[in-house]
Amino acid sequence: MQNDRASAITDALAQLSDAASALGLDDGVHAMLAAPRRELTVSIPLRRDDGSVEVLTGHRVQHNFSRGPAKGGLRYSPDVDLDEVRALAMWMTWKCALLDVPYGGAKGGVRVDPRVYSSGELERITRRYTSEILPIIGPMQDIPAPDIGTDEQTMAWMMDTFSVSQGHTVPGVVTGKPISLGGSLGRASATSRGVVHVSLAAMRAAGLDPSTATAAVQGFGKVGRDAVRFLDEAGCRVVAVSDQYGAVQDLDGLDVEALCRHVDLHGSVVGLGGADVVTHEELLAADVDLLVPAAVEGVLHAGNAHDVRASIVVEGANGPTTREADRVLAACGVTVVPDILANAGGVLVSYFEWVQANQAYWWGGDEVEQRLEERMVAAWETVDRRSKDDGITLREAATRLAVARVVEAHRTRGLYP
Ligand code: GLU
Repeated sequence: MQNDRASAITDALAQLSDAASALGLDDGVHAMLAAPRRELTVSIPLRRDDGSVEVLTGHRVQHNFSRGPAKGGLRYSPDVDLDEVRALAMWMTWKCALLDVPYGGAKGGVRVDPRVYSSGELERITRRYTSEILPIIGPMQDIPAPDIGTDEQTMAWMMDTFSVSQGHTVPGVVTGKPISLGGSLGRASATSRGVVHVSLAAMRAAGLDPSTATAAVQGFGKVGRDAVRFLDEAGCRVVAVSDQYGAVQDLDGLDVEALCRHVDLHGSVVGLGGADVVTHEELLAADVDLLVPAAVEGVLHAGNAHDVRASIVVEGANGPTTREADRVLAACGVTVVPDILANAGGVLVSYFEWVQANQAYWWGGDEVEQRLEERMVAAWETVDRRSKDDGITLREAATRLAVARVVEAHRTRGLYP
């Protein structure tokens, strides 16, 4: 599949520039927000199971601390590079500010394909990476969480490595932990739930009835899979899904239970009985009401944005729409619900997890889900109103709202020394 991941940092900086000029920020404040506050690149020597040693590279970028400790996921992918991590860290700052959680933004990444390493090797990679970034993380400094290629087991190893270094258990150093180690109920599906709350709100705002709407979801991982389930539960007809191996379509609506069973058995959506095989590009161009790109950056780009037939795109992934594609979609009247709003359910419940872990007091699942829904819908309403009031896109509205909050915190704290 063709995509345009290289544009992430250019696009993130251009979005910031737009917001800075719309908000009338002075050049100094703009420059401060354009540069990450701290970046750490580390070597990770790994002893492979066969005894050989391989050296991997990892990064942790802390973009901003004005509103609180830095927060953001850790990604394991062969495509990780410092610029990608910088872009993702900046988007975390805006996402946390937009949802009004008291964090700045950060992101981590290790350039590695986790699918080709054993569990023991992944544990050694994770523990060594954690040891290397130990001086800059902590529950009041920077709190990692899962992202592409990492999961709750990764977080358990990070939490344990950090805790051993401190001599006591520190559950608040990471979020997205297993429930048995102080994870929050509802965290694993939180991003998908948030994506669906916002999708339903966007459909209603566009006069579409979710119970008769159709959807296509690109990506069937941590975000896409549960988004498909929750869209199906809300009555939407999910007609096409894809993963890194291929895409399938059934215009009558996929049988979501059968689809999940098939993926559990075969590790991919490919080969699902009764569904047609389509290409990735055909999936993105599906004739549906709602398109949810829920995988990686840059999948909607100048080369394919004209083909999108959905009237609403909800960004389950971070940065799936390039700036060029954004322009094309806006010109074609497609509503794009931006990542910093659409997929913020994950970091929102990460925040709930951190609050619970720091207080050692656990909430019920219903409480988590109710607070998640309230805050996602409230954020949607704020962004939608700003977009309508100012005649700007939802991304412009969301970015301006978020940047203004970060700038206000920065100005109120003051520049020291
Ligand atoms: N990786 C997720 C994101 O991009 C979650 C981050 C977090 O929970 O800190 O929003």
